[in-house]
Amino acid sequence: MVVSLFSLEGRTALVTGSSRGIGYALAGGLLEAGARVVIHGRDVAAAESAAARLGELTGGEVRVATFDVTDPEAVDAGVAGIEEVWGTPDILVNNAGIQRRTTFVDFPVSDWHDLVATNLTSAFLVGQRVARGMVTRGSGKIINIGSVQSRLARANIAPYSATKGGIVMLTQGMCADLGPHGIQANALAPGYFATELTRALVDDAEFSAWVAQRTPAGRWGQVHELVGALVFLASSASDFVNGQVIYVDGGMTAVI
Ligand code: NDP
Repeated sequence: MVVSLFSLEGRTALVTGSSRGIGYALAGGLLEAGARVVIHGRDVAAAESAAARLGELTGGEVRVATFDVTDPEAVDAGVAGIEEVWGTPDILVNNAGIQRRTTFVDFPVSDWHDLVATNLTSAFLVGQRVARGMVTRGSGKIINIGSVQSRLARANIAPYSATKGGIVMLTQGMCADLGPHGIQANALAPGYFATELTRALVDDAEFSAWVAQRTPAGRWGQVHELVGALVFLASSASDFVNGQVIYVDGGMTAVI
């Protein structure tokens, strides 16, 4: 009974930005829990190769969709393509994101716009498009990927923090609008994980040591450590959990 609560057999999932990094690990976890998963990114070759690797590793059913999450028409066409084959996804993970680092006074406005479009508008666009089908069906799970920066600021990334703070209130707004339709929208907020996005930080010995020192767990996270919380939020185990943020950060946001 308890194990079946977490089973995703018969469910379909779209994980944006799953061609590498955190999204790739999350997609792998959903596949292992029994879901069929759409692997996504902009780079077609990268998404196809990720899908092939995940299909082989897990034995699960994968498809590929490539579209830019910042472009409303591309999102519409991309989700329509998925719906034609698998119907509206049961699970949507809004994970695609970017990072830019510059001191506040020098931050280019073009980078501000890129960050807002990729990290926040994307969750609105893909969320809205997929939620229409979820509302018709009367069920669905939306998981928006936040960050420790949803709650804690740091120098040189004010616009990124603003987008991740925005993810929390977008999630609560989705909960308010979509909860009555049997849909749960929650956020999963990772601490520091070594990926393409954090490569410069991993390579910076001083910063890397600061992460370990600042985190009660005493180290960076490993992407597979996000899977347990994701499967919980994607499965029936969380049917009465809505509008919440789960920090998977080794305790970083709990302490100063
Ligand atoms: P990566 O850079 O490793 O992966 C980003 C993914 O997003 C890629 O698949 C990329 O594919 C896709 N992507 C980026 N822009 C777009 C776009 N415009 N349209 C479609 N797809 C896009 O990053 P991470 O795995 O590290 O990050 C994933 C999420 O986790 C982000 O939201 C990030 O903010 C968040 N996060 C990461 C943390 C970390 O420590 N790594 C900590 C906290 C949060 P492609 O380039 O082919 O489009």
